[in-house]
Amino acid sequence: MARLPQVGGCMCGALRYEVSAPPLMIYNCHCTNCQKIGGTAFNTSVIVTEASLRFTRGEPARVEWAADSGSTRCGLFCGKCGSRIVNGGKPSTGVYSLRAGTLDDTSWVQPVGDTYTRSAQPWVRFMEGGLRAETLPEDFGVFIAAYRAQGRF
Ligand SMILES: [Zn+2]
Ligand SMILES: [Zn+2]
Repeated sequence: MARLPQVGGCMCGALRYEVSAPPLMIYNCHCTNCQKIGGTAFNTSVIVTEASLRFTRGEPARVEWAADSGSTRCGLFCGKCGSRIVNGGKPSTGVYSLRAGTLDDTSWVQPVGDTYTRSAQPWVRFMEGGLRAETLPEDFGVFIAAYRAQGRF
């Protein structure tokens, strides 16, 4: 069982955060935004509520952009070392995508599947038996239920 709060931070230590509630779900996202932001093939997204994420040291730098849907997205990162903590947040819904690798303890992190498989790198192997969505899942409820079923918290 994983404990709360879960803590993490940036590479240089200027930013520290804690997550006080279980994530809603975790999945590997292969969208082109995640590829650009991370400079790699995919991001392991830990979806948390904005209310459960609190910075305990430092103030994150913020970048904002307009998604295709027209809603505002935001990213949070360390202004000193550049580590991205929140890949994309949707302030309108209060849901943030935390980058799994910034957690101190990643032993409990188990994605339920892969999203945006249509833009995945051709050499990537999707999770065996995992959920898959070509873009965003039609029904996030299935992803949320699969995550709850892991019983990590
Ligand atoms: Zn830093
Ligand atoms: Zn993505």
